[in-house]
Amino acid sequence: MPRRNELEHKALHVISNNGNDGVLQSELWRELDATSREGSRIALKLETKGLILREKELFEGRWTYRLFPKIKPASLDSIIDSPCLMCPNDARCGAWSPISPNYCLRLTAWILGIDQPETESSGES
Ligand code: SF4
Repeated sequence: MPRRNELEHKALHVISNNGNDGVLQSELWRELDATSREGSRIALKLETKGLILREKELFEGRWTYRLFPKIKPASLDSIIDSPCLMCPNDARCGAWSPISPNYCLRLTAWILGIDQPETESSGES
């Protein structure tokens, strides 16, 4: 059984790293040095656990599945314009500090997609 768990873990890692492109089931098993039978079982198990999506695809005249991760790693692009990255109060900001993300108007405005007036001071509401 440890081999199957290990393969599941490796398979999920490879699928996650391929992101939106997905990976063909047959390529994945080749990469993991698993049999197609082992591979199909693992893919079904990962799908049942809600970790991947399988989409049927005709590849070189044969039906196979392309596997996609359901949970995608966060990208730096998603936070690149966050006010925290250039905030002068960054070093003093913390959940239990007087300057806190819990009360920061700039952060709240950024999360909500609202333009923040220039006169607001960082983290002090
Ligand atoms: S004060 Fe606000 S903008 Fe600055 S680091 Fe804290 S949460 Fe981010």
